[in-house]
Amino acid sequence: MFDSLTIQSHKGPYTASFSDETPASFGRSATGKTHVIVDQKVLGLHTERLKKLTDSPSVLCLESTEENKSLERFPSYVEHLVKNKVQRGDVLLAIGGGIIQDITCFLAATLLRGLDWDFLPTTLLAQTDSCIGSKSSINAAGAKNLLGTFTPPRSIQISTVFLKTLASAELQSGVGEMIKVHAIDGPESLAALEKDYNLLFTDPAVMLHYIRRSLLIKQKLIEKDEFDKGIRNILNYGHSFGHAIEATTYYAVPHGIAVTMGMSFANYVAMKLGRISEAKYAALKPLLDKNSRGFGEVEIPLDGFLQALAKDKKNTGSNLALILLDPEFRPVKTQVPNDEAFRQICSQYLQSQRGRE
Ligand code: NAD
Repeated sequence: MFDSLTIQSHKGPYTASFSDETPASFGRSATGKTHVIVDQKVLGLHTERLKKLTDSPSVLCLESTEENKSLERFPSYVEHLVKNKVQRGDVLLAIGGGIIQDITCFLAATLLRGLDWDFLPTTLLAQTDSCIGSKSSINAAGAKNLLGTFTPPRSIQISTVFLKTLASAELQSGVGEMIKVHAIDGPESLAALEKDYNLLFTDPAVMLHYIRRSLLIKQKLIEKDEFDKGIRNILNYGHSFGHAIEATTYYAVPHGIAVTMGMSFANYVAMKLGRISEAKYAALKPLLDKNSRGFGEVEIPLDGFLQALAKDKKNTGSNLALILLDPEFRPVKTQVPNDEAFRQICSQYLQSQRGRE
């Protein structure tokens, strides 16, 4: 079964197509030259399946680590592409998750002032969330996602066959982003996802349905505000807290699970600030706890967490810019003073989570 979604961007429309099969090919580049950037683990697990797509003299095979998407590693990637005679009109093909996406997208944005790139996302997080929206984010000077561009791919092919080899924590990670967009879409959407939660892990058709739905919800926001100046900000629900959790645990928690924990943390702060009731906080918590299973024991040190939160690039002045639920349960960008009262709320939350599993 194939169907597709067309997303409008400042560079024109691009298409995400869905399938439960292995994609055979992407469009050729103008000069016929494709440079493949592929996740090492994915290539090992899906060698036969990827044979045609990786049949290029220029293949850069990388381990998907945060270190490998830091600026310091880029000279070697550029050297590889230059050795392989990269020129205008060539295309980069990314095969992997968000890390390979960020590396490829950043190279495509900057090399020779811009190359086209295609994307075969192989993690649920990349399939359900990051593949659309144009962003590339690169780590630099010890800060995560400090450098970046808005450079949409030329085309995306989403195939659920790759999810069969994904670790269960990585599946949960992708589901974390699904929960986020369904929460943004409203209580009915979230209730539907909560009802089908267990099926996501056992029924590929249900999974494909929610991948598609999640992208449709995100599409509405990114088409209105591709450059993240306004309404798109709400997609950061759970992210300021999530990024701080990732940073202070040295990435022991996968991104989308940190976002799941971050939504729970944000809801607690919203409750303590009197924005949502205790009953609403309690109603949202079980799904978030379920999707962060296996990571409840991870130690989140308060000081490190607060330091990381204060470094968030969305902050202005001494206030923290947080996405919190409002009384109608809509996520809204909110300025919160980074003061002793906030510290106390964070401390209480972290204590309440200790030994949860
Ligand atoms: P990832 O790219 O970090 O990969 C996670 C792990 O899964 C790796 O070990 C990888 O080798 C493995 N893997 C990938 N596909 C597999 C498969 N099919 N089978 C088995 N193993 C597989 O994962 P991710 O969660 O997609 O990406 C996280 C990164 O994406 C973070 O750096 C985050 O900052 C970034 N991100 C970027 C955007 C954006 O819009 N640019 C959005 C969200 C997250």
